Amino acid sequence: MTEKTYDVIIVGAGPAGMTASIYAGRANLSVLMLERKYPGGQMLSTEEIENYTGFEQITGPELSEKMFEHSKKFGTEFAFGNITEIKEKDGLKYLTADEKTYISKTVIIATGSEHKTLGIPGEELFSGKGVSYCAVCDGAFFKNKNVVVIGGGDSAIEEALYLSNLVGKVTIIHRRDKLRAQKILQDRAFARKNIEFVWDSIPLEIKGERKVSSIELKNVKTGEKTSLEADGIFIYVGMLPQTADFLQLGITNEVGYIPTKENLETKVAGIFAAGDVRVKDIRQVVTATADGAIAAQSAYSYIENL
Ligand code: NAP
Repeated sequence: MTEKTYDVIIVGAGPAGMTASIYAGRANLSVLMLERKYPGGQMLSTEEIENYTGFEQITGPELSEKMFEHSKKFGTEFAFGNITEIKEKDGLKYLTADEKTYISKTVIIATGSEHKTLGIPGEELFSGKGVSYCAVCDGAFFKNKNVVVIGGGDSAIEEALYLSNLVGKVTIIHRRDKLRAQKILQDRAFARKNIEFVWDSIPLEIKGERKVSSIELKNVKTGEKTSLEADGIFIYVGMLPQTADFLQLGITNEVGYIPTKENLETKVAGIFAAGDVRVKDIRQVVTATADGAIAAQSAYSYIENL
């Protein structure tokens, strides 16, 4: 039996992939969307979204569900699958997932990014025992306790604000004396009574017995080392693009992101990238959805010209 050849295979069902699905489906293309976990991507671990047009306030899981339902409305097939290889032969793309091969004329890579780790002693040992990368998932375990948030970007500040409604005190540790996060988030954090800041400091080690009890810090300006008692450590020090499985295509840059042309095509004809996985300045749900639309339209034009 010959395998079906799709017009478009979308790898990853975050906001970029799910929007690509809507646009490609409406263009009457045959579409398969593959996801290795659950549809929604990073939205799934976001408590509240208030900057996605048309939704003044919605939880990440709710928006994920709405987008997923919408993404299947125009005939897209959906399957769970972890793509571990993409190869090109005679203009067709062959995608391998869990010993299954899928064939397509075009591919949209929308695999997003996942949290980075600090790589300090105690981080792995206490992961799930006080060390967490998801306030929405684990915040409730720390009701009225003291927690530390590491990082100064949007994620760190947004999650610190979320935690401050649950826990006794949040201490944000940042390696500089200025936050990277958007001003509106900074202002909210500075106004919150139970959020404190430790500036110019990096974490050296997470300590405890059966679970986390403290974190060792170093002030990068003075060299002074201190120890801070904490029941929980939430780490938000940036994201890693999920491209390790596509390295053989030679489409990633030195840090793993995918550079694209304006139409979101990668170095390989017929392979597009959309959302957080590609080289871009602003990584937001709304920019991911815009990417999905552009990539799908570009895939359509590519197929028209075959
Ligand atoms: P990010 O913007 O890369 O910020 C990472 C933070 O961690 C920075 O403050 C960085 O310090 C710090 N950091 C990095 N490595 C560190 C280390 N080894 N030790 C200590 N601190 C370290 O990552 P993000 O906050 O996860 O955000 C990722 C993307 O998603 C961004 O584009 C962001 O705008 C977007 N996002 C948007 C929203 C929203 O709009 N509501 C919410 C979440 C995320 P420096 O500042 O010194 O580099």
